[in-house]
Amino acid sequence: MSECTHDCSSCSSECADRKPESFRKEPHPMSKIKKVFAVVSGKGGVGKSMVTGQLAVLLSRRGYKAAVLDADITGPSIPKMFGINESATSSELGLHPVRSGGGIDIMSINLLLPNETDPVIWRGPVIAGVVTQFWTDVIWENVDFMFIDMPPGTGDVPLTIFQSIPLDGVIIVASPQELVSMVVEKAVKMAEMLSVPVLGLIENMSYYVCPDCGKKLYIFGEGKTEAAAKRHGLRFLGSVPIDSALADKADKGEIESFQGDWLTPTVDLIEKS
Ligand code: ADP
Repeated sequence: MSECTHDCSSCSSECADRKPESFRKEPHPMSKIKKVFAVVSGKGGVGKSMVTGQLAVLLSRRGYKAAVLDADITGPSIPKMFGINESATSSELGLHPVRSGGGIDIMSINLLLPNETDPVIWRGPVIAGVVTQFWTDVIWENVDFMFIDMPPGTGDVPLTIFQSIPLDGVIIVASPQELVSMVVEKAVKMAEMLSVPVLGLIENMSYYVCPDCGKKLYIFGEGKTEAAAKRHGLRFLGSVPIDSALADKADKGEIESFQGDWLTPTVDLIEKS
């Protein structure tokens, strides 16, 4: 075995000194961030970004300073949801997030690319490096609650985030169909293995309310998420319906004006954390 450099991030040896804190990265010296929550999912397209955006909006409406770190580098959807078209700026001090109309600070790769439709064709370690820089090089001013929109799955980038950013909790988002597969269970186990506390599970696209009769239609079956939450000993945080008005708001960049109280219990828990 080569001599110990005390840098666990570049070493694969198992040793007594190797602790979760060994990989931690310090935020920018001018940043002040009180609480950080990561929003994760087993796969893409289940509404992780939608939930991330809504949580930030709801906390901001309660008078807190909220921020979103968009770590979904290959599929960034946060800036569009908030209607942000301008680029992030930098100074000799560091990178500055873009502030939304409602006062939420946002950093995303799409705010740094010359053209938002440019694909990011980078290998995992490069992407992980960029996400780490969103933590270490961005000046996050007086943030009460930061939400990290994680890349889906359990690859390189989620691993780097779990290890390098001190998380106060993980919120798992799943669609009813996803729970039939094992993908979401892998995300739960990853958080557990890395000793990151899991706040609970949110079911998105849970049901659809018939516009004619007002009846809830459970298109993908009812109660799967609650059962899955029980199986893992997780808190069931609630269900978000398929809502065309919500999708429309997100598409138009108007997520900050959405109405809906589905996430109130989650926001209560986050506020008390
Ligand atoms: P992910 O971050 O998991 O990849 P997104 O949050 O980007 O997924 O959602 C995928 C698509 O589904 C987006 O177009 C979004 O507007 C839409 N969507 C997500 N949740 C809902 C919902 N509850 N009702 C209607 N549309 C939704």
